[in-house]
Amino acid sequence: MNFCPICAAPLMTKDLGGLPRRACPSPDCEFVHWDNPLPVVAALVEYDGKIVLARNHAWPEKKFGLITGFLERDETPEAAVAREVKEELDLTAGRVSLIGVYAFQRNNEVIIAYHVPASGSIVLNEELAEFRLVSPEKLQPWDFGTGLAVRDWLKRKE
Ligand SMILES: [Zn+2]
Repeated sequence: MNFCPICAAPLMTKDLGGLPRRACPSPDCEFVHWDNPLPVVAALVEYDGKIVLARNHAWPEKKFGLITGFLERDETPEAAVAREVKEELDLTAGRVSLIGVYAFQRNNEVIIAYHVPASGSIVLNEELAEFRLVSPEKLQPWDFGTGLAVRDWLKRKE
């Protein structure tokens, strides 16, 4: 971020709370770009005994991941993860349970990951290009982001 979204002045770097922040130099404005991590919900969807991995259109050919999304204002993380599963896969979530909370520094996000048993017929929305159903025994966790939730869920399952 280079310009103040309130008054359009070029931002400068200020030491605030012990960290360098992009801030507005205008004394009348005082805008600070805190750049705090954004929470993201992730769903490890269990469907028919298998785990649903999906590929976003924006992702490379062989990269599959969990269903993720941002929370809406006033929405609980549990409701958000169930809504994302409905929107992206057209599946109805059963009882969701927390797997864990994970820092994802690369995207400046905090991932709140849930196990989501779901039912219905899978219909992908426009965000997703394709999906795979993987049995838990064949699930290979990746070592960043939502992959850590996959790892922990598998560990707990043993
Ligand atoms: Zn400003």
